[in-house]
Amino acid sequence: MTNIILFGPPGSGKGTQAKKLAEKYHFLHISTGDLFRAEIGNKTELGQKAMSYISKGLLVPDEITIGMLRKKVEENHDVEGVIFDGFPRNVLQAEALDELLAERDQRISALIALEVEDEEIINRILERAKTSGRTDDADEEIIRNRIKVYNEETAPVFNYYREDGRSHTVYGVGSIEEIFDRLRKLIDSL
Ligand code: ADP
Repeated sequence: MTNIILFGPPGSGKGTQAKKLAEKYHFLHISTGDLFRAEIGNKTELGQKAMSYISKGLLVPDEITIGMLRKKVEENHDVEGVIFDGFPRNVLQAEALDELLAERDQRISALIALEVEDEEIINRILERAKTSGRTDDADEEIIRNRIKVYNEETAPVFNYYREDGRSHTVYGVGSIEEIFDRLRKLIDSL
């Protein structure tokens, strides 16, 4: 069982690459952002709550996010591997994930961070806003807030898994195929 965290700032290409990797390795792709957007689309209570944070560029509270993630993992116990995309986003979520996996005698195999400069990220997200319909993509102020939250709350997760050598970095600028190749080589060498 391989459990990979695809890590990196908003707009770094996690979603695009996670989908490709899941397809290649026959792993399950779990994106907490996608799960929230599905809840919002279905107009559930969870979705409405999540929207009030997402629209401001804030993290959705841990109890909501961790509960939703746990449910998704429990529904899919019979898989060869998982690509976690957008989770964990703070150290408390990382601890909860480790606990959840430990209950199943599993662990995180590797965290892979896509490295992209801030200005490139902002441009990519504003470009994505033209087609994504995501309100959190359309406003530069909100994007800057998401990057700030990433630096303050999410970046420490990299150090959390670095302590025992499980954190890796991949340069996230280039063509989709180039970046996919870098990721594939790293995963095959694990
Ligand atoms: P991006 O990586 O481009 O920010 P995502 O789809 O991963 O896009 O996330 C969109 C938003 O959903 C985040 O800005 C945040 O508000 C919320 N979100 C996603 N994952 C989490 C999480 N693990 N914890 C808290 N909030 C989350």
